[in-house]
Amino acid sequence: MVGCDTAERIGADGREQGRGGVLPRVALAALLWLCAPLAQAEVDLLSGAQWATSHERLSPAEALALDYRVVESPALNLGPRQGWLWLRLRLDGPALDDSAEGEMRWLSVRWPYFRDVRVFLRDPTALPGTAASEWREVREATEIGGLLDMPGHPGRLLPRFDGERELLIRLRADGPAALRLTLGSLEEERANTLVRYTLFGVYLGAMLGMAAYSLFLMLAVRERTYLGYAAFLSATVLYIALRYNILTPWLPEAALAVPPAARAQLAVALMALSGIWFVRRFLRTQRDDRRVDRALVGVMGVALLSMPASIWLAGVLSFAIVATYAVATVVVIVWAALRAMRRGFGPAGYLLLGWSVFALAVLLYLAMLLGWLPYAGWLMVALPVGSLAEALLLAFALGNRIRHKQREETTLARERDRYRFLSEQDGLTGLYNRRALDRRLDLAIAASLRTGTPLSLIVLDTDRFKDYNDRYGHLAGDDALRCLARVMQANVREGDLCFRYGGEEFVILLPGQALAQATVIAERIREAYRGNSASELGPGGTVSLGVAQMREGDTANTLLARADAALYHAKEGGRDRVELAH
Ligand code: GH3
Ligand code: MG
Ligand code: MG
Repeated sequence: MVGCDTAERIGADGREQGRGGVLPRVALAALLWLCAPLAQAEVDLLSGAQWATSHERLSPAEALALDYRVVESPALNLGPRQGWLWLRLRLDGPALDDSAEGEMRWLSVRWPYFRDVRVFLRDPTALPGTAASEWREVREATEIGGLLDMPGHPGRLLPRFDGERELLIRLRADGPAALRLTLGSLEEERANTLVRYTLFGVYLGAMLGMAAYSLFLMLAVRERTYLGYAAFLSATVLYIALRYNILTPWLPEAALAVPPAARAQLAVALMALSGIWFVRRFLRTQRDDRRVDRALVGVMGVALLSMPASIWLAGVLSFAIVATYAVATVVVIVWAALRAMRRGFGPAGYLLLGWSVFALAVLLYLAMLLGWLPYAGWLMVALPVGSLAEALLLAFALGNRIRHKQREETTLARERDRYRFLSEQDGLTGLYNRRALDRRLDLAIAASLRTGTPLSLIVLDTDRFKDYNDRYGHLAGDDALRCLARVMQANVREGDLCFRYGGEEFVILLPGQALAQATVIAERIREAYRGNSASELGPGGTVSLGVAQMREGDTANTLLARADAALYHAKEGGRDRVELAH
């Protein structure tokens, strides 16, 4: 029996607070909503072979003739069920006040997955017996006002009655069947509904806000992982919206033709698909953890295949499939994040935390859907609260990942610079090597053509170096080459580049300098080397140099060849001199 005392108290409080504005009303209704399952009442539930589909055609009187067992609370959790379900309630007519709406009592069946809900009230004027005429169907009320007019809002407006009345409720279940019957005034039910819609609005705003922000980030950092995050948040919101019957007025005909339980299952499939896609990208499992990646892809495959199954098998079997891969999804993701942490991928920490919170919420919620835990208000909000906490933690994870990626990129860029430097450096002298000359001469020619500034080049060869080596040894020869490199660098301007072209041949690139200035530098190097090598090395040595300025039609090769020809003349002319190219 839904006790008349409880119903009356709820109704009276609701009306009282109703005059005090929306906020206190919302607060009170929230409290009532959470406490509602505590209200003691008795419900008779059809027992035995009550799930046979033939019950569909039973009249209320015939249904009443079947076996019933008494259940102590209006919050029933029957677990996954498929088929018709009859309930019998005994209500004591409350002492009603005189306000118009106070005469009515709103009976709420707060579970969106029941279909074809029918409510029958025994006519008090009929004589006792089991004749079908005793039973009047309580039809769905229309135009009650406020949020109660939303299609799919499960409930019935009961007329005023005194004394004891019997009620029969017939429902069709296509999966988890949890039922919490509440009886209160319209006022209380409106406040109650307002609370649920307000809370959902806050939840929706927070989730979609985070999803939108992540899309902006995706455009900013050009990283598609954010798309997976936004898709996962959207799928979660879709599931919760379906769960709270929020979307019903906007669903197209085709979607309304799908049973509500199947719609929710499709949303779960989208959550699993987007969630796994996001995690695979985030943890780079495809590249870094093939084993985990195969498991994740496997779960994705099951989720994808379950979608047509949800529509065609709608019922306990498809629920079992969905429940199985939902558990597999959170377990495999937590496993993937654990492994990523173990291989030192820092940002996996927040991901692990976020998915662990969500996994806990999913497991609690699933335990309730399976009938292992009672149908209670706090379990109903486990999923929205868990998903909100997860969304926040995943946002931290994404931020962390950007920093991780930036660090990785900086290290990579530094490595690249170091590698390029090493690959362009000559080991003996520390000057640029021949590979660097090939690249930088082309660049210098292109820059000179573009800006119209002159470009000159010096080719330098050590005189009689074979003899020098023979006389003083190869190591002394190396010292001479190092000394020459220092002399060259000390005598060129900033922006001029010195290369070791071959064994004891060098090239100096002089951007922005004409032949005359280049010749001055060449002379300076020749003299400085003779002086320096004499003081530093003892034996001393000389160099010959050829200078050329780039002219129209020159390529890297022709410019080098002309400077080389000038060098040849310097050697021919007796060495230790500078010659200019023609
Ligand atoms: P020339 O005045 O005509 O240039 O006479 P040269 O003896 O210098 O003739 P050439 O330029 O052909 O001689 C190259 C010599 O330079 C041969 C080799 O022994 C020496 N050489 C080349 N690379 C190195 C090096 O890395 N270290 C030392 N010590 N000697 C080198
Ligand atoms: Mg030589
Ligand atoms: Mg030489």
